[in-house]
Amino acid sequence: MFSLQKLLRPHLLGLSPYSSARDEFSGTASVFLDANENSFGSATAEDFNRYPDPHQRRVKRMLARLKEVPADQIFLGNGSDEPIDLLIRAFCRPGEDHIIILPPTYGMYSVSANINAVEVKEVLLRSDFSLDAEAVLQQANANSKILFICSPNNPTANLMEKGAVEQILKGFPGLVVVDEAYIDFCKEESWTCKLDEYPNLVVLQTFSKAWGLAALRLGMAFGSKELVDLLDKIKPPYNINQLTQEYALRAITNRDKMKRQVSLTLYEREQLAKKLTELPLVEKVYPTDANFILVKVQEARAMYNFLLEKGIVVRDRSRVKLCEECLRITIGTPDENEQLLEAMAAFPEKLKQEA
Ligand SMILES: *Cc1c(COP(=O)(O)O)cnc(C)c1O
Repeated sequence: MFSLQKLLRPHLLGLSPYSSARDEFSGTASVFLDANENSFGSATAEDFNRYPDPHQRRVKRMLARLKEVPADQIFLGNGSDEPIDLLIRAFCRPGEDHIIILPPTYGMYSVSANINAVEVKEVLLRSDFSLDAEAVLQQANANSKILFICSPNNPTANLMEKGAVEQILKGFPGLVVVDEAYIDFCKEESWTCKLDEYPNLVVLQTFSKAWGLAALRLGMAFGSKELVDLLDKIKPPYNINQLTQEYALRAITNRDKMKRQVSLTLYEREQLAKKLTELPLVEKVYPTDANFILVKVQEARAMYNFLLEKGIVVRDRSRVKLCEECLRITIGTPDENEQLLEAMAAFPEKLKQEA
């Protein structure tokens, strides 16, 4: 039987969290002299003198409806990076426990673990970037506190197979975090619909990609009520600022705009993938479930530098395991994609001149 209490670092069992002024008073009042705010307003034209809702109740209420997850099973963080860090801090004892990651994958899992002096074990994806559930379960032991599965995966752009994830959810001793930063760009449904079935499941999503709000820094973690209560206890009290909460509400109200932009991205993705395949020096255009494409080329590093000279930045993944000679390219606007293709088409000529 899965027990969150047993998985948790023992010193957190009896932790009393910081109790903010806004926690201790939650009724209605008209004179607020409890939080040492500036009672006159702000140094800016608009007022930001009041602390924001530490529980982000309005945002969570709207998200609960949108995601069909109860509000008390939603945690909001300063980007997804915050819940990643909080989870590692809550469950992994430095020097004793470890996380498992599935490279090639998103870099923040191991960075967060390293910051917290927590060991990182790696189970490589297969060469077709699929998930080897058996290999993961073989690596796991009682000190495997968290497994990070990124699906669709960054930088390989593929979804992980449902059956493999399910096998892991059933057999893994610790938490299984499914990072769905790119879920809006694929047809698969979210793992949030399985939260009731698997108490060890945590799903991450973000406002940084499909919603187009990377600058606001708003990430979501969905999990059991017990887990969300715990994250709420250890987070900085006012981790989501007022502007972020307001703009998130606006974005959710304006969801049609997000959906239109996702459709545009998907259309451009198809066009770009097709045209990339036709370019010389392009060896493979990997299938994608995300808003980027992984492309295997000849002379990746030189091509990357050539694109930079033209003012176009892509992500050089050529020194990443299993991504040798690969560039990761975000889907741009039609004009941006056109510029990229033009530059890539001009690259062989440049190589020839140098030879
Ligand atoms: C972009 C991305 C995120 C988003 O991180 P934020 O901190 O929410 O901006 C999370 N996970 C993966 C795999 C990503 O690629």
